Amino acid sequence: MIIIFILGLAIGSFLNVCAYRIPKGESIAYPPSHCPSCGNPIIPLDNVPVLSYILLKGRCRNCGEKISLKYPTVELLTGLLWAGLYYHFGLSIQLIFGLFFATVLIVLSAIDYEVKLIPDRILLPAMLVSIAFLILYPLKVASLPVIAGIKPWWAIGGFFAGGGFLYLVAILAPLIFKKEAMGGGDIKLAAFMGLYLGGYVFIALFVGFFLGAVVGIVLMAMGKRTAKDMIPFGPFLAAGAVFTIFFGPQIWSGYLKLAGI
Ligand SMILES: [Zn+2]
Repeated sequence: MIIIFILGLAIGSFLNVCAYRIPKGESIAYPPSHCPSCGNPIIPLDNVPVLSYILLKGRCRNCGEKISLKYPTVELLTGLLWAGLYYHFGLSIQLIFGLFFATVLIVLSAIDYEVKLIPDRILLPAMLVSIAFLILYPLKVASLPVIAGIKPWWAIGGFFAGGGFLYLVAILAPLIFKKEAMGGGDIKLAAFMGLYLGGYVFIALFVGFFLGAVVGIVLMAMGKRTAKDMIPFGPFLAAGAVFTIFFGPQIWSGYLKLAGI
C-alpha cells in the first residue's frame, strides 16, 4: 500500500503538470518544470511531491514567490486515493480500472477548478480507453462497471443514464432558475462516470449536487461569492463518483432498508 501511495504521489505531480499546461495548449513534456513566477527551472530536489512543498515552506527557492497549495493538494489526494483504491479492490484488474477512473477524475477536477472548463482533449480519449475496457468482457477477463455485482451492460446503461440526466437538468434548470446551471463538459463527465458506476451513477450525481449546494451556500454565507458566480461543478461530480466507488452499494442498501423494501 505504501508503494501504491508513493506511486500515486508521483502521478499526482504529473497531473499538476497536465492541469497547468493542457488548458494552455502547451506540451506536457517540454520544457521541464519551471517556477511560473520567475521562470527558473525547478531542481529535482525541489520537485519531490508534497515533501518539497513542506521543506520549502511553500515558497520558490529562487524568487520566494508563494507556491500554490493546490499542487501538494493534488499530489496528496492522488496518493491517498490510489492507496484507498488498492485497499478496496486488492491487486486486480478492477484496481487498474479504478485507478484510471480516479486519476482522470482528479486531473479533470483540477482543470475545471482552475479554468472552469472540462477539456474534451482529456475526457474523450479517456472515454475511448474506458470503452476499450468494456471490450475485455467477452474475453472473460474483467469489465466495467467497477462496482461489484453489477452486470457489464450497466456500464452502457450508466453512460446514457448519467449523461441523459444531466442533459435534462441542463435543459430544465434555465427554465426554472433563469440561469445556466450545467455545461456540456458536466454532461459528458456524468456519462463517463456512468461507464464506471452503472446505475449507481445516480448516487454519485446526488452526492455531487448535495456537496455543490453545501459549498455554494457556505461560500455565499462567507460573502465570497454571490448567487450569480459560477462554481465549477466538475470537482463535486468527481467527489460524488469517488464516494460512490467506496460506499455506493452500502448507501443503496441502507436506503432500501429505510424505505422498507
Ligand atoms: Zn520562482
